Order: sequence, then structure tokens, then C-alpha cells
Amino acid sequence: MKSVKGYIERKTMLYKTGVEYGDYTMNHVLGCAHGCKYPCYAFLMARRFGKVASYEAWLEPYLVSNTLEILDKEISRLNRKSSRFNYASRPTRLCTNMTK
Ligand code: SF4
Repeated sequence: MKSVKGYIERKTMLYKTGVEYGDYTMNHVLGCAHGCKYPCYAFLMARRFGKVASYEAWLEPYLVSNTLEILDKEISRLNRKSSRFNYASRPTRLCTNMTK
């Protein structure tokens, strides 16, 4: 298993979604070491918004070191009765139709 490239910090962790199966999403990893050969949507969005320069850089993921501190603050502000989470990133990404 590849190791992470390093650590980054973020100011926010939870993002409201527009999908019916999740009110919020979070992204505690930047990048993915799987290296799928088909166009990776997460990479394309990260590159589009200037978060990563190349696919080679995407393959060396960074972990968000202050994830738990941010979640402590942000989750306490949510309406817990109606909040559902959808995770855009996982410690090990398992996208469907994954090929190497
Ligand atoms: S597993 Fe998902 S995020 Fe990772 S490279 Fe493949 S499509 Fe992209």
C-alpha cells in the first residue's frame, strides 16, 4: 500500500449536497493512490478548481490533518434529526467500475 504524500489543513469539512441520498459530504483526503485508468471525476474536479496540477500529483494523496477538529465544530451545529452524510472520499476509495 502506498503511503500518503503529506498532510494539509482545511477550514471547513462539511459541504451541503444537492443529492437525495445525502445532506452533506466531506472530503478528508486530497488525491487517490488507486490510479484508475478511466477518467477520474474527482481528479478532473480537483484539477479544474486548482487543487492539483497533474494526475501524477493526484496519485500521491494528502490527508487533512485537522479533520476531527473541524468535524467537532461543524457537526455540533447540524440538525441531527435530518442530517445524512455521503462521503466523497474514503481512506480507500472504492469507485464502481474501478480498473487499474
Ligand atoms: S478510485 Fe475513484 S478517486 Fe481514485 S483514481 Fe479511481 S476513480 Fe479516481
